[in-house]
Amino acid sequence: MSEIGLVIARYKRHALVESTPDKRHLCQFQSRTLNPVVGDQVSWLKDGKDTGTIRLINTRSTELRRINSKGRPETVAANLTQLVIVIAETPAPDWFLLDRYLAAAELEHLRATIIFNKLDLTETIPPTFYTYEKLGYPVSAVSAHKGTGLSAFSESMIGERNVVIGQSGVGKSSLINVLMGDNIQKVGQLSDKSNLGRHTTTTATLHRLSNGSELIDSPGVRDYAPYIGDIQKIQQGFRELLALSQNCRFSDCNHLAEPDCAIKAALVDGRITSKRYKSYKQLFELKESLKTYRS
Ligand code: GDP
Ligand code: ZN
Repeated sequence: MSEIGLVIARYKRHALVESTPDKRHLCQFQSRTLNPVVGDQVSWLKDGKDTGTIRLINTRSTELRRINSKGRPETVAANLTQLVIVIAETPAPDWFLLDRYLAAAELEHLRATIIFNKLDLTETIPPTFYTYEKLGYPVSAVSAHKGTGLSAFSESMIGERNVVIGQSGVGKSSLINVLMGDNIQKVGQLSDKSNLGRHTTTTATLHRLSNGSELIDSPGVRDYAPYIGDIQKIQQGFRELLALSQNCRFSDCNHLAEPDCAIKAALVDGRITSKRYKSYKQLFELKESLKTYRS
């Protein structure tokens, strides 16, 4: 009889399925078209002491998708509720990337929180960081090395299934490590015990923090662009643009060269920053350049 479980780690051709909090099973997939990701609720069949087969994936409430190297969408995590976007003193923040992550969060109806790491290296947080706070996104500044700001940060993850994302080198692994303490290796252990070392390269892993929050570490999204489906929806990824767009003369205004555009007017008087508008335009152009691909 099939059981219901949660995918907590994904390997190339297998997934680790948790049936109860301390029971994990290495599962293969019943068909080639089945592509479970971390966070998926699955129906699976036990076929050994620690092994099984995934038969079905339950409908996802949310998805985080990225554009893969072929320009196609690829789901990296499912049923998540919050994106934890990490930026840092170094490497210098890529604000366009941050806006793409935020747009992905808006379009998938996920909460988003922005973390500025490596506070120990600087006394001045970039002013742009605070423009996001003004937009209503929770922001906090932390240091993984010094432990500064970590309690507020971990509180912001309570009750959420979080995915930690950001440029390579900003300190995501360091932050996950300090938050996890000694628990970090737990997920990999089953594979070692089962002598299945070849499966240990995960594409994503779900960890549980002692405060009950869930944290998905997904190396795959570190350096890639989140996928945005429909070009008409790009403005929904920018909350301040969306709010003002109702005042444009044309209901299908793209806010590029149209007359009587409320966004252009807001840009002139500073209600929309030029950085955010530039990100909107860049995302529009990126999407145009990928038009040949279908979602
Ligand atoms: P990831 O690629 O985002 O996972 O980043 P890592 O966690 O691998 O960290 C990248 C580099 O930044 C490493 O050399 C870390 O030691 C360093 N790093 C991470 N957090 C901090 C921090 O709070 N302060 C300082 N000074 N360095 C940090
Ligand atoms: Zn407009």
